[in-house]
Amino acid sequence: MIEIKTGKRVEVIDITSKVKEEVKNSGVSDGMVIVYTKHTTTAITVNENESGLKEDMLNILERVIPTGAGYEHDRIDNNADAHLRAILIGNSITVPVSGGNLDLGTWQSILFVELDGPRKRKIGMKVIKS
Ligand code: ZN
Repeated sequence: MIEIKTGKRVEVIDITSKVKEEVKNSGVSDGMVIVYTKHTTTAITVNENESGLKEDMLNILERVIPTGAGYEHDRIDNNADAHLRAILIGNSITVPVSGGNLDLGTWQSILFVELDGPRKRKIGMKVIKS
């Protein structure tokens, strides 16, 4: 498990190097790693770590699930948009491990999406030998 501190309410953070380190420390050379968020207002996906694309991601989330659009859950803690966006993106990813390395494509990075920060966040990982 790793802990990260996010800096904004909504942001995309590349955690690929942290996952690589965890895989290295596990000693598993072939298998897979499951990376999952331990929170209901964050998400994890695999895509390109490019600043324009990360902006586009956040903009489309705001368009599809606008902040404060009369959600029932906003009566509780005013963050329904964050939960709904997290559901849309998903809470875990699986990456194959080959020769001790993450078997990702050239442009693929593991992206953690903060949707109700800034906060301390926990990311779980399970490396499974095949
Ligand atoms: Zn909530």
